Amino acid sequence: MGFVPGAGREMRYSEVTRLLGFDIMVRVQRQLLRHFLKTRDKHTSRDKCFIATLESLADLIFFCMYKQPKNSTAAADINLNTQRRQGFCEFCGNLTELSSFIETLMTGKPNNIELTEEIKFELSHKYCTEHRPQLMSGEWNPAYKQAKRSLTQFNVELRRLSLQCALRAIPNAQSGDQLVDAYFFQYMLSQTLSPSDKAELRNLARLMVDSKLSDNKKKMLVLQKFGFSQYEIGQKLLSRKQLPMTRQAVSKALSAIRKPFLLSG
Ligand SMILES: [Zn+2]
Repeated sequence: MGFVPGAGREMRYSEVTRLLGFDIMVRVQRQLLRHFLKTRDKHTSRDKCFIATLESLADLIFFCMYKQPKNSTAAADINLNTQRRQGFCEFCGNLTELSSFIETLMTGKPNNIELTEEIKFELSHKYCTEHRPQLMSGEWNPAYKQAKRSLTQFNVELRRLSLQCALRAIPNAQSGDQLVDAYFFQYMLSQTLSPSDKAELRNLARLMVDSKLSDNKKKMLVLQKFGFSQYEIGQKLLSRKQLPMTRQAVSKALSAIRKPFLLSG
């Protein structure tokens, strides 16, 4: 199965071809064929038959590549293909394993890519290496589980960051809370991100969630920036039990906040 792209993942051959594009698929199939010849071929009749099959598949894709499309939807298809090629991991700003593999193929020298066990199309087309559901060992990946649990919050923070990034002159995070909006406003003033920095914004949202920078902490930071003392901040915010927070609780929460999220001045 390792010598036919997608077979291990139960993806249809045409599906994989659509994802990769004809040009890459030809190269990948030929490379897998060479790999088989080098490592497995015992010159049995079964092997000869298998080699002929792989050759036919590579030829088929090659001829498909030069076939004239019947109608003019080709442009839209190409577009879709490039969009999927730039696919982000569902949980962060890294490319999915498949996308980053494709990027290596497109930018690097495909002939030099070593066909290791991982490249036998066990690559995830939804997640990056860090967030793949299962580790190479077959065990569940704790980073995947954590990211899955916090997906809603990730999308909330990503939306706020993107909105604020698109309109820096005024508070625009649209969080529903003035202090939280003020935090995003102040935070974005010290950043050089633009709305097209999609990967960076996604990574930032992921870091925000993983660092447990709650809305309450954002409010503390912004109140601190406005010059309120820790005692006064505590009086303005409510704890989880809906009571004013003590100075100690505010101090503890503030000291736990990671550096990149502090507001300058
Ligand atoms: Zn990821």
